[in-house]
Amino acid sequence: MRFRSAKINSFRTWGLLLTMIGMGLMVLGTAGIVFWGQAGKIVAGIGLVIGLIAMVGSMGIYFWAGMLSTSAVQLQCPQCGKLTKMLGKTDRCMFCRTILTLDPTVATINADDLEEQHSHSSK
Ligand SMILES: [Zn+2]
Repeated sequence: MRFRSAKINSFRTWGLLLTMIGMGLMVLGTAGIVFWGQAGKIVAGIGLVIGLIAMVGSMGIYFWAGMLSTSAVQLQCPQCGKLTKMLGKTDRCMFCRTILTLDPTVATINADDLEEQHSHSSK
């Protein structure tokens, strides 16, 4: 899976999406009883079970994202200057989505180059 946003942000997005789906299924299931009567109860049962699983899953993702963000490396984004967190060796800035890396072998620009660029542009 490749996300075009910071990893922590995408975990939160997925968690939220799953919660919405879970709640939607539960509401739909309950509405099924109203519309289809006896037959709707089966639909409601299935909807409630899947909805519950989705919500538990989303809570798991939220919890996981919380755990990950405590172990995430906090650093100042060289592009926008804001304080961001990154997971693993390569991640995107949470604010400007610049790709950041801790691995010097895959980096196209390093801190010294950036420093130089900044000092050049400020002159
Ligand atoms: Zn940034």
